[in-house]
Amino acid sequence: MRDDFPVNIKDVLAKRVGFRCSNPSCRQLTSGPQTDPSKAINVGVVAHITAASPQGPRYDPALTPDERSSINNGIWLCQTCAKLVDNDPIRYSAVTLEAWKREAEKEAIKELESRRHRIPKSDVFTRLERLMPLLLIEMRQDISQHPLCREFVLLKSNWAYWSKGNELCYYFDDHPDLLSQIQILENYSLVREITYNNVQRYIMTEEFAQYLGD
Ligand SMILES: [Zn+2]
Repeated sequence: MRDDFPVNIKDVLAKRVGFRCSNPSCRQLTSGPQTDPSKAINVGVVAHITAASPQGPRYDPALTPDERSSINNGIWLCQTCAKLVDNDPIRYSAVTLEAWKREAEKEAIKELESRRHRIPKSDVFTRLERLMPLLLIEMRQDISQHPLCREFVLLKSNWAYWSKGNELCYYFDDHPDLLSQIQILENYSLVREITYNNVQRYIMTEEFAQYLGD
């Protein structure tokens, strides 16, 4: 017995994230035009946050069949990410997937409500250099030492924090306005929040990393 999603739920879930994969490190577009002008391509799927059947990943026996096939238990992903999360249900827990879904929907509404910045990017960077020179110096040093690193967290120096070893750290102690500065970077779409636990976590865009690396 599988508790599958009704078709209309799949459609709504896809639209709620603007037809993009909900994995914050992916955000791949999942639909577009097919050669046949009457058709569209779709490479997105609704994944179950907790599985549709007892042998499936993240199965939660506490849910009723209705809860299992309800919109709350679905997340829109590209086919690759759907396969990824079902291959390692411990790393990609229900809590993580719920956080992905929340963030993807938050981003979609933000993008929907805002109009693209018409300010030339060079002006943006000049402005940032004035607003947060010390943070940019530190980020520049970090990127030159770790050219492949894009993820970073915001910490206080007295917090016990177990690093995954592949993220950069910025400290509230070193930068009193750290959160405001990061929010400005986020407003300019240069960083994206990907928090999934009690530590604020962000990812830099390639454009920003390239700017810092130059
Ligand atoms: Zn994806």
